[in-house]
Amino acid sequence: MSPVVIAGIGVPIAVLAGAALIGLIFDFFWGFVSLALGLGAIIGIHLWQAHRAARWADSPLETPVPEARGVWGAVFSALYRRTRARNERQRDLATTVDRFRNAVEALPDGMVILDATNRIEWANRRALSHLGIDLAKDTGRPLANFMRAPEFIRYLEAENFAEGVVVESQREPGATLSIQVVPFGIDERLLISRNITQVEAVARMRRDFIANVSHELKTPLTVVSGFLETLQDMKLDARQRARYLNLMAEQANSMQRLVDDLLTLSTLESEQAARADNSFAILPLLLEVSADAKALSGNRHRIDLDFATPAIVTANRDELASAFGNLVSNAVRYTPDGGTITLGWHVDDEGRGAFSVTDTGIGISPEHIPRLTERFYRVDRSRSRATGGTGLGLAIVKHVLLRHQAALDVTSELGSGSTFAVLLPARRVTPEPLPDPAPGALSSTTSS
Ligand code: ADP
Repeated sequence: MSPVVIAGIGVPIAVLAGAALIGLIFDFFWGFVSLALGLGAIIGIHLWQAHRAARWADSPLETPVPEARGVWGAVFSALYRRTRARNERQRDLATTVDRFRNAVEALPDGMVILDATNRIEWANRRALSHLGIDLAKDTGRPLANFMRAPEFIRYLEAENFAEGVVVESQREPGATLSIQVVPFGIDERLLISRNITQVEAVARMRRDFIANVSHELKTPLTVVSGFLETLQDMKLDARQRARYLNLMAEQANSMQRLVDDLLTLSTLESEQAARADNSFAILPLLLEVSADAKALSGNRHRIDLDFATPAIVTANRDELASAFGNLVSNAVRYTPDGGTITLGWHVDDEGRGAFSVTDTGIGISPEHIPRLTERFYRVDRSRSRATGGTGLGLAIVKHVLLRHQAALDVTSELGSGSTFAVLLPARRVTPEPLPDPAPGALSSTTSS
């Protein structure tokens, strides 16, 4: 039997029993009177509780359920349990909605919900920075007020949303957005905007790189194939033949250098951390580099050495040798005959190791300096080519230094010369006391 019936049946039975007892003790009349009074009281109480229940049902949702005893107590507690369960469900729902909203707000993509007429119903915060849509004041406004790019208007009108469309951002000059519309529900649409500036930049870099490599290889290949045809078609004397073969060998060498530099660069780019570090004395490395400088210069320049503080360096020796070698080779190639090239090494006050190459060469005007480490960036293309440059030397230097948390500092004056300095972090450098007796090689001048 239900708790309400159990709670409700007791009182009428008691009234009935009481009236019967009074009827027996006194007479039938008083029994009837007490039954009528008892039933009247029961009806009155029920009407009052029904009134409280109806008033509660009409009141705001958060009004507490009334309390009572007996049958109405059982009814009200059932209602109370139901209300509590509903409140809990609503709380859970609100938490879920909040989490969902927070997740949508945290998305790096802009989201806009549009109605069937392309008016804004809802937008997340990112839509403000991408498209300038501010939910607080733009709800109900047509999307066309914010997206005027003709390619987007065509996309929206064509109603073919299988793919997205790429547009320039009207809010952020230079930024590129990918916009995709996704239909859902009955005639509703979700617009997703994504900033693809970086992706575009990488794609452009890749396209430029392939175009550059092809261009760099095309010139020597054209020369070689031209000479080959000449050698095949024409009768040449031994002297001319030797000259053409020499020219072909030069072009083959320049292709070889380019391919070598490309391989070095791709190895450096594909491995995140530097190959195994080892600790080595810097001085022998500096002497090797200066010997290379002298060999490259072939006595056309004066080469000065200024190696102040011997030190033990923890780095990848081969990679540092390649970076230092590139700087030295540039100094030789961009310094006219008779100029001076100074190779320096010292440990500064903060414990950083500084290797520098200073030349009295052609110098570089300031606007080029920030771009020198870009692949294939050259100030003077023909001079670079004529001296056997690949346009990749400083890009290699940049990657080697990045892998060693080192920095490249360039100072230059057009027509007067340049200094390229490599700064190795202090934790990679341990200064050593000068060897005894001080070697002559530490500071010397080699004149042509
Ligand atoms: P390249 O093979 O052309 O020398 P790099 O990447 O080594 O390529 O250098 C990029 C450009 O920087 C060079 O083409 C040149 O214009 C400029 N450059 C580099 N080093 C020097 C220097 N010591 N003096 C003048 N210009 C330099």
